Amino acid sequence: MTPICQVALPVPRGETYDYLCPFPVTLGARVRVPFGPRRLVGVVTALGHASEVPGNRLKAVLEVLDQEPLLGQPELDLLNFAARYYQAPLGQCVATALPKLLRNGKAASPVLNTRWQLTAQGRTTEPQTLARAPRQAAALAALQASESALAAAQIGAQGTPSAILKALADKGLIEALNHLTLDSHEVETPTLNDAQASAVEQIRSASGFSCHLLDGVTGSGKTEVYLALAREQTRLGRQSLILVPEIGLTPQMVERVRRHTGARTVALHSGLADGERHNAWLAARTGEADIVLGTRSAVFVPLARPGLIVVDEEHDSSYKQQDGIRYHARDLAVRRAQQFAIPVILGSATPSLESHFNAAQGRYQHLTLDHRYGQAKPPRISMIDLRGQRCPDGLSNALIARVGQHLEAGHQVLLFINRRGYSPIMLCHDCGWTALCERCDARLISHQRSRSLRCHHCGHQRPIPPTCPDCGSEELHQLGQGTERIDARAAQLWPDVERIRLDRDQVSRRGELEAALERIRSGQAQLIIGTQMLAKGHDFPDLSLVGIIDADQGLYGQDFRATEQLAQQITQVAGRAGRRDIPGEVVVQTHNPEHPLLGLLAPGRYARIAEALLAEREQLAWPPYARLALIRAEASTAQTAMNVLEEIAEPLFGSDDIDVLGPAPAPMERRGGRYRCQLLLRSHKRSVLQAQLGHIRQQLETRPSARQLRWSIDVDPQSL
Ligand code: ADP
Ligand code: ZN
Ligand code: ZN
Repeated sequence: MTPICQVALPVPRGETYDYLCPFPVTLGARVRVPFGPRRLVGVVTALGHASEVPGNRLKAVLEVLDQEPLLGQPELDLLNFAARYYQAPLGQCVATALPKLLRNGKAASPVLNTRWQLTAQGRTTEPQTLARAPRQAAALAALQASESALAAAQIGAQGTPSAILKALADKGLIEALNHLTLDSHEVETPTLNDAQASAVEQIRSASGFSCHLLDGVTGSGKTEVYLALAREQTRLGRQSLILVPEIGLTPQMVERVRRHTGARTVALHSGLADGERHNAWLAARTGEADIVLGTRSAVFVPLARPGLIVVDEEHDSSYKQQDGIRYHARDLAVRRAQQFAIPVILGSATPSLESHFNAAQGRYQHLTLDHRYGQAKPPRISMIDLRGQRCPDGLSNALIARVGQHLEAGHQVLLFINRRGYSPIMLCHDCGWTALCERCDARLISHQRSRSLRCHHCGHQRPIPPTCPDCGSEELHQLGQGTERIDARAAQLWPDVERIRLDRDQVSRRGELEAALERIRSGQAQLIIGTQMLAKGHDFPDLSLVGIIDADQGLYGQDFRATEQLAQQITQVAGRAGRRDIPGEVVVQTHNPEHPLLGLLAPGRYARIAEALLAEREQLAWPPYARLALIRAEASTAQTAMNVLEEIAEPLFGSDDIDVLGPAPAPMERRGGRYRCQLLLRSHKRSVLQAQLGHIRQQLETRPSARQLRWSIDVDPQSL
């Protein structure tokens, strides 16, 4: 009898598909199979001799792509878990876990299209010193002139042969990108202070699975704690997986990891070329890499000899995927550590309420670093009451004065406003017309530079009208402010100061962010105006003042996480100030100076905020005191979406274990011309909720009325 294998395929429906397999094949190997008119690559997730599909309808595997399993049992277990928990097709989970070339059937061996970059020595070596090897000198000069790593074909006008590059690499002047080793004598291992050493000791003394919440104020040296442990793992011959938020994975971070550990380090993120990602993933799988530094999807990477998992800035919302499979990488990381029976560290200056709660319950060990490393003091925080003040461009006189003083002293200043563009409200003073998006329930944001009104939700844009489109009045006012307006005002106030604006309009590609951060780090830019892009993890030594232009934005948020996120954001931005010897100052502009949340923003007090917010969550039965799942539906009319959700909700009303909230229009009902509704389910019992979700998913997949919808199920939604 021909064996039958179950194959997870990258298709939107179904769990796995059965195929006859006339060839020898192992679990976790890739196979190529016919699927309708197409041929697809999938992963074998089960082997057997029986199928529910009648024998004459079973098709056969065309080709076995891996002689050895590409995904091991631990990875398959994790993917199975993720598929069940997040109500996603297994094949799509598998597709998320694999880098593109492997998804497309490429052999599981490294590809050779490496890019090359300078080493520290290469950056400072004059090409003339290689005069006797002119082609090496030319290649070195070309790399020095480039801002980024280059493939051999891009080095010099005609490209550079690999023998020349190899010679430069042998001299230690260049290296292949993303496969980083150091000579041991270049490794610097900082001496830990007592608080750091004690955290390391406690994590090290745990055996088997253990989860540690490393709750340390910004600048307390959490990263050095991770690296000390990762260094030890490397020495013991075990791998460390370090997850960081998307924007936290800078070349500086990679550099710091390798310099402080000396380990063979690979990075895994979406900014890599396909070949680099492929190679890095394989290096993790074979165990050739000691440390894997990756963003969200790296949580799925196979590890040959796992020893430690770290989730840095664990509160960061970029760990939750917002489309496709809506998994949370932090939660899966904990699950993986459990599977492997190894420690996992969740680090943050502003832990999520979930993690805070788990620590309070004793499920996670709570480790704290209460002070900044070295001489750095916590920043001083003060409020500026905006009530009754006129400041159309967003900067109060008091803030302008403070900024002036810090700039005068030669320090850097950061003005934080979490909105890009010039102004969020364009209003006719005569008739009250405002600029709205035609396709969304949203205002258009004016952008001065491009003289356009833009929708930040659907991308619609049109020119700024010269007069009111309704009444023809010329009295068009722009209310409120975004980064562009603050920048324009700053240009008037401090014309001689070098400014930099950091938001998604300015910095859309990875290289641009690098360049901008470098201008800040080098001290070239003195005044920085930016969005939350700046709030995370960056270390700017000369920054002494952080001005928060509008703390009120988050105070009125509707979402149940709005206050948590506001508190995290402000604490994180404030944490950029005064990280070295210069004392830091944070000035918060608000119309609500008495708001209890703002009163709690002083450094080291985040725990108090977290407790207050947790008490509120408990009272309202929101997570972590209950579990949520959000079913979203969108259609060309609101009624279509509502009807289906009502059908789905109907049998749940009256259930003892599940609260049904809605269905109701989504907070922004119309978006991109489609109508969006949602149904929120809440339960104290995860298993009950899971069972219902499985049933609902089946309904949505099979009901004829649901065919007119785009729908999704979001388990543990990050926002509603
Ligand atoms: P966190 O990750 O908690 O924000 P970092 O690990 O980035 O903090 O540390 C803040 C600053 O203090 C960094 O510049 C770092 O190099 C420095 N630092 C932290 N710990 C040490 C140490 N043990 N020895 C020397 N410098 C340290
Ligand atoms: Zn008008
Ligand atoms: Zn729109």
